[in-house]
Amino acid sequence: MKYISLNHNSSPASFKKAVINGLAPDKGLYFPEKNIKLPVSFIESLKSLDDIEICYEVITSYIGDEIPKNKLLEIIKDTISFKIPLKKIEQSIYSLELFHGPTLAFKDIGAKFMASCLNYFKDSYTSKKITVLVATSGDTGGAVAKGFSNTKDIDVCILYPKGKISEVQKKQITTNGSYVNAIEVEGDFDLCQSMVKKAFNDEEINRNIALTSANSINVARWLPQMFYYFLAYKKINNKRNVFSVPSGNFGNICAGILAKSMGLPIDHFIAATNINDTIPRYIKEGIFEPNNTYPTISNAMDVSNPSNFVRIQKIYNNDLQKIRKNISGFSYDDKTTKQAIKKLFTSENYLTDPHSAIGYLGLKEYMESKNDESLNGIFLSTAHSIKFKDVVEDSISSKIKYPASIKNILNKESNNQSIGSYSELKEILLNRN
Ligand SMILES: *Cc1c(COP(=O)(O)O)cnc(C)c1O
Repeated sequence: MKYISLNHNSSPASFKKAVINGLAPDKGLYFPEKNIKLPVSFIESLKSLDDIEICYEVITSYIGDEIPKNKLLEIIKDTISFKIPLKKIEQSIYSLELFHGPTLAFKDIGAKFMASCLNYFKDSYTSKKITVLVATSGDTGGAVAKGFSNTKDIDVCILYPKGKISEVQKKQITTNGSYVNAIEVEGDFDLCQSMVKKAFNDEEINRNIALTSANSINVARWLPQMFYYFLAYKKINNKRNVFSVPSGNFGNICAGILAKSMGLPIDHFIAATNINDTIPRYIKEGIFEPNNTYPTISNAMDVSNPSNFVRIQKIYNNDLQKIRKNISGFSYDDKTTKQAIKKLFTSENYLTDPHSAIGYLGLKEYMESKNDESLNGIFLSTAHSIKFKDVVEDSISSKIKYPASIKNILNKESNNQSIGSYSELKEILLNRN
């Protein structure tokens, strides 16, 4: 498979090159050159197939012979090494729990897959030491750090904004030992991101280190997110299915849409956002007009110009009518989100984090408007409630317990450096190698 740039000013790249580059040289996102269709017989036999077999069939055409079958099977096995339950919440409403991975967020899946691919390709890529450099507003940092935990000769540097991430998120970033360099930045996420950008454009750094990003637009993070749409479909009965996806940069929902384009029977998608509602407004009004980005309690979705939306436009040939036929958009403010967390807890005894709660709200609104008994609704639960403990406790007016899997890291000592300026970051990067 070759990958074209959606800016159309770079030549097509192999999977390997697309993974290593992240973005094409013309700054466009990579997109598979060919449409892949899965055989109908495969879709019809999903229920009887093994999970790893399903994921292999879904992704193999996107990789071709660039990773041998045995290696790819091993990577897949590592990627989906935890449970992905589908829980019934109400009549015809299900939660697809993607938060049972090592850092309790769905990003574990893409981050693990990408880390393994990069590790496989690294020897033929450069003789310099590879450093993965990322800025995080919370969830990405931990998932990337853990994803690379078995790739010891790749260095990982994570920048996060001081005081702006939750306690659990901070522990997940700062307790990984020496292969992860956790860097606390005096400033906000935008400052972290601008420092990372500067490093990528810094000639002295590039002469000495092979820097790479583990950005969510990377094809090796995007494509494996299709896995759980297929695995969910395997578990449900044959009704028509609607998937509601709490969305920020629109990578997760875009993977679902690609899965549908390959033949997975999905009736409709809900793009559920917080008040950073560029896409719901675009779908309703037909005008693409990003506002400023507003901070919310679902901060992993505080994105006003979602990078992956161009991929969705590509899948639908830029046809707004087709987009409307396949995707509905809904947005919710913090107050409504907290009410949903409370309602799910008190009436269904179900704990959700603010992102997943927005997925639930979007799904309910759509299902109520359709009032159609032949529909099944599934919302993607993208993070464990404990990652947003303060907000969740405030919403339900009681305390929640730490799951056993997390107690261990809470007792670990945080290990991080603090910086306030780019020159300090540069010094750290150059002295680490
Ligand atoms: C990253 C994230 C999202 C948004 O996913 P996108 O693929 O960027 O749309 C939603 N929920 C949580 C918990 C996240 O960490």
